[in-house]
Amino acid sequence: MARDYYGTLGVGTKASADEIKRAYRKLARELHPDVNPDEAAQARFREVTTAYEVLSDPAKRQVVDLGGDPLESGGGGNGAGGFGGQGFGFGDIMDAFFGGGQGGGGRGPRSRVQPGSDALLRVELTLAECASGVQRDISVDTAVLCTTCHGAGTAAGTSPVRCDTCGGAGEVQSVQQSFLGRVVTARVCPTCRGTGETIPDPCQQCAGDGRVRSRRDITVKVPAGVAEGMRIRLSGQGEVGPGGGPAGDLYVEVVEKPHETFVRDGDDLHCTIRIPMTDAALGTKVGLDTIDGHAEIAVEPGTQPGTITTLRGHGMPRLRSGVRGDVHVHLDVVVPSKLDHKQADLLRQFADLRTRDQSEVVTAGSKQSGGLFSRLRETFSGR
Ligand SMILES: [Zn+2]
Ligand SMILES: [Zn+2]
Repeated sequence: MARDYYGTLGVGTKASADEIKRAYRKLARELHPDVNPDEAAQARFREVTTAYEVLSDPAKRQVVDLGGDPLESGGGGNGAGGFGGQGFGFGDIMDAFFGGGQGGGGRGPRSRVQPGSDALLRVELTLAECASGVQRDISVDTAVLCTTCHGAGTAAGTSPVRCDTCGGAGEVQSVQQSFLGRVVTARVCPTCRGTGETIPDPCQQCAGDGRVRSRRDITVKVPAGVAEGMRIRLSGQGEVGPGGGPAGDLYVEVVEKPHETFVRDGDDLHCTIRIPMTDAALGTKVGLDTIDGHAEIAVEPGTQPGTITTLRGHGMPRLRSGVRGDVHVHLDVVVPSKLDHKQADLLRQFADLRTRDQSEVVTAGSKQSGGLFSRLRETFSGR
C-alpha cells in the first residue's frame, strides 16, 4: 500500500520543491540521531528522510501523485536501490535507512511486526586468546519468539480489532496555521502505536508483544588476530522484534585483558627486559616466553640502555591473513645499586683501566651523550 509521504513531511500535495526542502530541514534538525538518540525519533527520522528522498525526486514524486509508491517493488521509479547518491550528508544512516524500508516505516498503518534490535555483548580475552582465536560459550539475555502465540500477540482464538483512536489509519493528524500556510502534522497514533489495530485479548505469556525475554546460550567463534574494541557480528542472533519480527544481530565486542609482559601496538608487541650492566657490556643470551612459544634474544657485547631488539614474526597475527607482527624487546640495563667491598674495588680497578684509555672515553662522551654524561663520567673516574 502506498505511503503518505506528504503527510510524513507535513506538507500539502501542492507543496513546492522549496517548501518540501524547508519542511525536511526543520524535521531533520529535530530528529537527527546526533541530536535525538531516542529510538522513536530515529525511526521517525528515517521516515522523514525517505519521504524527502521521494518527494525531492520529480520522477518519484510523480509516481506518488499518481497514487503509487516508488519504493514498493514494481511501483515504478528505480526503487530503494536508487538511493544514496544524492549527497544529503546522511551517509552514516544509510544502512539503517535501508533496513527500515521493509520493516514498515512510513505512514499509514504500519505492520505490528517490526524487526528486532541488535544486541551488544562484551567478551574478555587474554592476549594469547586474541592471538590464537578462541571459541566461547556465552549466555545472552534476549527477546525470543513467544511460543504460545508464535508472535501474533493474541490469545488463542481471538484476533486484533481496528483502533478506535485513529480509525485504523495508524496516525492522527493535526492542522496548524503557520507563516508557510496550513501545515498538516501527522503523528503516530498513541493508542495503537501506528499499527491501526489493538489487541483486546492479548496472549497471556507475552502480554501481546509476540516475544518474551529469555536466556540463550550461544557459541561464538573468535578469529585469530582480534583486538580491543573489535566486534564480531552474529547475524540474526539479536533480539526478536515486536510481533515476532525478524531478529536483529548480536555483536560481540572484544575486551582485551592486559598482559603481564607485553604491551600491544596493532600487530606488534613490546616488552622490556632488564639485563645487568655486566651482561650488557660482555654480551649474553636471554630467554623470552613469547605469546605462543619461546625465543632466545642475543644481547650483543656493548649493548646500550634503551637498545631495541626485534623478533620478526613473533607478534600478533593479522586478522584474516597469515602475516604476523614483530616483538620489540627494549633492553633496560640495570646498574647495581649496592656493591660490597670487593665488587666496588673491582669496579674502581676497571674504571682506572678505562680512564687510561682517554681517547675512547672522551669521544664516546662528547659525541653521543653531550656534556652531562661526560661530566658524570669524569666525576666517577676522578674517584
Ligand atoms: Zn504470546
Ligand atoms: Zn490507532
